[in-house]
Amino acid sequence: MNAVIVGGGPAGTAAAITLARGGMATRLIERTTGAHDMVCGGFLGWDALASLSRLGIDAAALGARPITRLRLVAGRQQVEAALPHAAAGLSRRCLDAALLDLASASGAQIERGVAVRSADPERRTVRIQDGSQIACDALILATGKHELRGLARPLALRRATLSVGLRAVLPPSPTRASALTDVIELHLFDGGYAGLLLQEDGSANLCLSVSQERLAEAGAPAVLLADLASELPMLDERIGADIPRALSAIAGVPYGWRARSTTRGVFRVGDQGAVIASLAGDGIALALAGGIGAAEALLANGPGAAANWQTSFRAQTRRPLALAEALRHGAEHPASRGPLMALLRLAPGLVRPAALLTRIG
Ligand SMILES: Cc1cc2nc3c(=O)[nH]c(=O)nc-3n(C[C@H](O)[C@H](O)[C@H](O)COP(=O)(O)OP(=O)(O)OC[C@H]3O[C@@H](n4cnc5c(N)ncnc54)[C@H](O)[C@@H]3O)c2cc1C
Repeated sequence: MNAVIVGGGPAGTAAAITLARGGMATRLIERTTGAHDMVCGGFLGWDALASLSRLGIDAAALGARPITRLRLVAGRQQVEAALPHAAAGLSRRCLDAALLDLASASGAQIERGVAVRSADPERRTVRIQDGSQIACDALILATGKHELRGLARPLALRRATLSVGLRAVLPPSPTRASALTDVIELHLFDGGYAGLLLQEDGSANLCLSVSQERLAEAGAPAVLLADLASELPMLDERIGADIPRALSAIAGVPYGWRARSTTRGVFRVGDQGAVIASLAGDGIALALAGGIGAAEALLANGPGAAANWQTSFRAQTRRPLALAEALRHGAEHPASRGPLMALLRLAPGLVRPAALLTRIG
């Protein structure tokens, strides 16, 4: 039996490592050619760290910076609370490279710089950029937010309001180092939030999730950032003179989406299975858990396991996604953001259940 995995992010690599270790002939196809950055906050929750450790990756040894507290900032209001367990900050460039290396060392065949153009789920074939076709017994779809022709998410099922992700790196600085040690900081504003954390080389990852409407109002990411800097004094202070010249972007993030069903032998993992609001900081953990879970189901029960596995992943992700959506809406809208901040100032301990309940456990 053989498996083809499309996409070499956390979901695809976790599946590749598990399948190759289980003795299945595994081919992972990733379109980027080498180490690359992703639009991602780089926050690794305790559940992501546990999955990484189960796969054999020690995030601390890769230089991940410890995070023990959450700081929420809305204009001049601030709330700080302890996270239920230790988390970490690590760039996706570093994390994805380590996962791909491990997949290769585990025996998976990794093909980089190859884009899959389309898939035929009934025949379980994929067509790659040179026009050739690859057949497999099981197909693991792990393309993240990107749609693959033949397996694209149905437009009608996607959320009407889509978000845009933006990211830039701020160089190491003593002021950011002291402000962000041990902390993930989220600056809330109308239509989205900006997250800041330290990563392995001392630089800070600045990642924004913003509604398409808010970005359209600003006209361009750089204008949006300038608007936010004048609206949010603390974000302005954090960025200081290091105004990013360019931001990487990903559009059309369908928060709250969960795959309803699948075809025999086709497993939708990571963001192709469920997209949790990024504010919850759990997308990487879901991707790792989904990749490992789908691979274990395939190893145990063959391609026929796909439908049951997909249904159980959908059920597992229901509560975390629903709560993350509620928190996202609460934080994005001015009418609910004030009361939410006031409640958390009175009872910062509420961060703990919120953080625990946005995890699949
Ligand atoms: C703004 C923002 C901030 C976020 N911050 C966090 C955070 O701090 N912590 C957290 O846990 N989660 C965060 N997330 C969510 C997290 O980034 C995703 O949930 C996670 O990356 C999903 O992993 P994945 O493996 O499914 O997909 P991805 O990580 O997107 O990987 C998909 C891979 O597939 C490849 N690919 C795509 N199409 C093709 C193709 N046709 N052929 C070949 N290869 C292909 C891509 O190059 C990529 O390497 C954030 C998301 C957003 C939008």
